[in-house]
Amino acid sequence: MDRRKFLKLAAISATLAGGVPGFFNREVKAKAYTPPPGALTARRWGMAIDIKKCWEHPECNDCIKACHYIHNVPHIPDRKREVKWIWKDEFEHVFPDKPNEFNNILLAHKPFLLLCNHCEHPPCVRVCPTQATFKREDGIVMMDYHRCIGCRFCMAACPFGARSFNWVDPRPYIEHFNPEFPTRMKGVVEKCLFCYERLEKGQIPACVEACKHKALIFGDLEDENSEISRLLRSRFSIRRKAELGTGPSVFYLIG
Ligand code: SF4
Ligand code: SF4
Repeated sequence: MDRRKFLKLAAISATLAGGVPGFFNREVKAKAYTPPPGALTARRWGMAIDIKKCWEHPECNDCIKACHYIHNVPHIPDRKREVKWIWKDEFEHVFPDKPNEFNNILLAHKPFLLLCNHCEHPPCVRVCPTQATFKREDGIVMMDYHRCIGCRFCMAACPFGARSFNWVDPRPYIEHFNPEFPTRMKGVVEKCLFCYERLEKGQIPACVEACKHKALIFGDLEDENSEISRLLRSRFSIRRKAELGTGPSVFYLIG
């Protein structure tokens, strides 16, 4: 039996032994994280998306291109098997719970940028049997690809569709290989990791850096003097499916 099959069997056994309700309701504890010298740090990382700036440049996909290039995200043409870390979709799919938020019907067809919300209470972490997905003390919801057994419980639990599963070997579909970031394999889940690897080097996330229109703002939600905190105090913002109580760390500035 190979390692993956063994881990899968062990996880299923543990789940059954522990009882499914207890397993799914277990508490989410953040893992301690010690940043290396020179790293950018925060008590809780978050992102604000100035959606009006995005709409002024509807053809611009620089953020998506930068993220997918740097992280070796494969371009798989089959929509059912595609892998995406950051993408766009229309208002009615992004905010199905806010049909009256906008009066102008034209806005309903504008694109919204989507990525993992790095929730304060991430349901994906709660259901993962192997702790392949876990939350750090600074709020980043991480993935350990080596621990992932591909059960996809996390995908079922995520209300934002922010995770992709590698149905096929992704490596042949990488258009420009970046040797500085690991590639994934068939059978594991992946998603946006708030560029933890760049933060460790003192760099801001690739999508934020790539946006020449300054539509993306990344910073510490718990620092009242950070740019993101000041913007969230002075502008009207909404979060996706806030009523579910997961506490998304991604905010859409719309006013
Ligand atoms: S598929 Fe998701 S829930 Fe299952 S082991 Fe991998 S990260 Fe955890
Ligand atoms: S924060 Fe980093 S990983 Fe997440 S969407 Fe932006 S570039 Fe991609």
